[in-house]
Amino acid sequence: MTLEQLLTFFDKQPYVGILVYTDKIIYVNKTIQEILGFSKKEILNMAPYEIFPQEEIRNKIKQILQKRLKGEEFPATYETLEVVSKNKKRLLVKLFTQTIQIDNQYGGLAFGIEITDEIKKEFLIEILKEINRTVINKEKEEEIFESIIKAIYKKGNYEFVCASIKENNSDKIIPKYCIGKYNKELLNSFSEIFNKNNSSDKCLIMQNTLNNKLTVFNDLNKSSLLNNKLLTSLLNNSFKSALFFPIYKNNKIYAIIGICSKYVEDFDKISVSIFEEAKHDIEFALKKSENITYLKLLQEALDKAYSWVVITDENAQILYANKSVEEITGYKLTELLSKNPKVFKSGYHSDEFYKKFWEKLLNNEIVETIIVNKDKKGELFYLKDKIVPIKAPNGKKYYISLAVDITHEKTLQNKLKKDILTNLPNRNEFINLILKKASPDESFACIIIDIKDFKIFNQLNGNNAGDYILRKFAEFLKTIFYEEDLIARIGGDEFAVFIKYDSINDLHSIINKIIYKAKNYEEFHNKLSINIGISLYPKDSENITELIEKSYLALEIAKQKGDFSYEFFNQKINQKIIEYTDIKNLLLHSIKHNEFIYHFQPYVNSNTFEIEGAETLLRIKQKNKIIYPNSFIDFAENTGYIKEIEKIMFPKFIKFLLEINIPLSFNISGKSLIDEEHIKNLFHNIEDLPMIIELTEREIAGNIEYTKEIFNFFKSKNFKLSIDDFGTGYSSLTYLKDLPSDFLKIDITFIKNIEKSDKDLAIVETIINFAHRFGLTTIAEGVENKNQVKILQSLNCDYLQGYYFYKPMPFEKLKNLINSNKSS
Ligand code: C2E
Ligand code: CA
Ligand code: CA
Repeated sequence: MTLEQLLTFFDKQPYVGILVYTDKIIYVNKTIQEILGFSKKEILNMAPYEIFPQEEIRNKIKQILQKRLKGEEFPATYETLEVVSKNKKRLLVKLFTQTIQIDNQYGGLAFGIEITDEIKKEFLIEILKEINRTVINKEKEEEIFESIIKAIYKKGNYEFVCASIKENNSDKIIPKYCIGKYNKELLNSFSEIFNKNNSSDKCLIMQNTLNNKLTVFNDLNKSSLLNNKLLTSLLNNSFKSALFFPIYKNNKIYAIIGICSKYVEDFDKISVSIFEEAKHDIEFALKKSENITYLKLLQEALDKAYSWVVITDENAQILYANKSVEEITGYKLTELLSKNPKVFKSGYHSDEFYKKFWEKLLNNEIVETIIVNKDKKGELFYLKDKIVPIKAPNGKKYYISLAVDITHEKTLQNKLKKDILTNLPNRNEFINLILKKASPDESFACIIIDIKDFKIFNQLNGNNAGDYILRKFAEFLKTIFYEEDLIARIGGDEFAVFIKYDSINDLHSIINKIIYKAKNYEEFHNKLSINIGISLYPKDSENITELIEKSYLALEIAKQKGDFSYEFFNQKINQKIIEYTDIKNLLLHSIKHNEFIYHFQPYVNSNTFEIEGAETLLRIKQKNKIIYPNSFIDFAENTGYIKEIEKIMFPKFIKFLLEINIPLSFNISGKSLIDEEHIKNLFHNIEDLPMIIELTEREIAGNIEYTKEIFNFFKSKNFKLSIDDFGTGYSSLTYLKDLPSDFLKIDITFIKNIEKSDKDLAIVETIINFAHRFGLTTIAEGVENKNQVKILQSLNCDYLQGYYFYKPMPFEKLKNLINSNKSS
């Protein structure tokens, strides 16, 4: 191949530019002419370094050229070299050169490939990367702008980059972050054009900006769309192409970023799409910055808020607590983080309380409640708390507790509520004091003392007398216990004591002491009695409300057991409560369905065995089943249901009484007897009937003064009176003389033992003699055999009652019996 032929071959090479030079360029192929935009003629007159615009590179190339011209042989490779085309377009080339000899002259052969697009893409991607880093790392707006402007300037090799930002106070868009070579005049013209108010005069940049679009000027020399001043100053700064893009914040123009290059067509399609991407990234960074600012403001607000704010994760681990929480609880935030809010648990609330609370939260319901917590020192604090379950954008669940500390109000309220009457702590304070005092390593008893039938006492004696008793009783309790024992009035007639004890025996003697002293307490005047329910801390519960509840359950049982009874809480109590509910349901059912009936048991003259009268005895009849009073009467009396029963049955009793010509006894409950209104209603318009009213000795013994009054009331109606179950109560025989009574019934237990026990025989004898001295007729009950009859006859007992003679029987049977006796 000749040189001629070779060069023709080179000429046809696409992509690869080929250039041969000595001190001047002596050959270029077509590709180079096309890339640089110079004609062959124009290039062949140039020195090889003249196509490089950068001073540095030019100098380097000059040195290499010197060497080559001297004949030094070496290759040189240039990865990216900037060259400028005739029309001032920046181009990037990869170049390979080698020394050659042509016509005895040394020179160089260069192969070059244009890589402008590839490299530019790399630059631009570098810019994007840097912007992304900024978005991630920077929070402050100024840092974001500074760092982005720098990235575009450096990575993009532009001559001038400037961000103009909306000013806070003036709303004007003013150049703020600028790098590169520029004069003041340029910044002024920016300011001017970005803040033009006259809409008709808005240049392309602003029109695009308003439409949230980029503006590209690829050759400022040919641009006619820019207003003159800006164009002039851009050209004065020797910029040939430029790109402007707006940054929006909250849907409003916030900034304009301008990028200028001294080369034409420096912003091609790729650049535009990359800067569009950058625009979104910057907007995102600003949004994020703003969000972070808001978050910081919010956190600041939360931190400084008076209200309590705690945020936990799904597992109730504390993620955040504000300053207020630290102040209220005394814990440092570091001590609380990742702990469960259980650290504040005071023991005030029952497990049931927390159970309900969590049920709601798990059901995504808001919980609003007043919660009593304990701080680091062990002091209680009250929160009016609102707990909000929240599903966060990350899909996880959180709980936010927003609360106000109402301890001050509560304690104030408690102080106001502190029992004025007795000056004892009230229920709330009692609980608070226990919470402070109790520690599970020691044994305490929670004792509730209930004054029995205090309501009725109040009705009978008036509120003043009632208040007086309550005050006195408070003083009375203070005399029994030590100062360190907690005494409180926790209900109308309920007092509570929380005491430390050493052994169960000691505790029993304490309880017995209370009972003994209460029985002999003069202010009670035999009118009132008490019941006591006891539960033990920590054995029965460490939770104070639960503990008190258990004392109350025990108290319920004690009440059923009768006057001056006490009961300790035990697991069987629940069973007993169930039994009582069963009895209660039985009574309610029987009252509703009229299932009560009477049976009658005659009693006889001990000498003639003639029937002198009959006792009326209550039963429940359900279908063919008869239920006897031993399974329900105590409960009915202790709960007051007996009054309901009497209201139904007393008129029936009167009807029977009128139908038969023997006296009938009626058992009246002591509980209904002390309800004056009830008795008056029951006996309204009823008098002068052969009726005997039986009242047990126990009821009398409890209340001798009142019994006297009521006995006189019955006497005035011409009824007879009988003291039942004599010998079981606490009455001394002496006060019998004060009662206008007619009969005395010797309790069944003495009759049972009369044959075997000389002591019981003696008691019965004494009772009969004593009764006769006061003109009382004696009745022995529960006579079951002939021997007992004989003994009782010998002791001069007047009447006898028992299965030996007659068992209780229905009314018809009694009537037949009386009629047949008469006719015989
Ligand atoms: P109470 O007033 O002492 O009545 C006598 C009880 O002794 C009756 O039992 C009677 O059936 C039983 N009894 C009679 N003779 C004998 C005998 O020879 N041997 C034995 N083991 N028992 C005998 P009941 O009817 O079950 O009544 C029990 C208690 O229920 C009564 O004791 C009374 O306190 C109360 N009660 C009965 N009816 C009424 C009523 O209408 N009102 C009130 N408040 N209480 C009533
Ligand atoms: Ca009786
Ligand atoms: Ca009896």
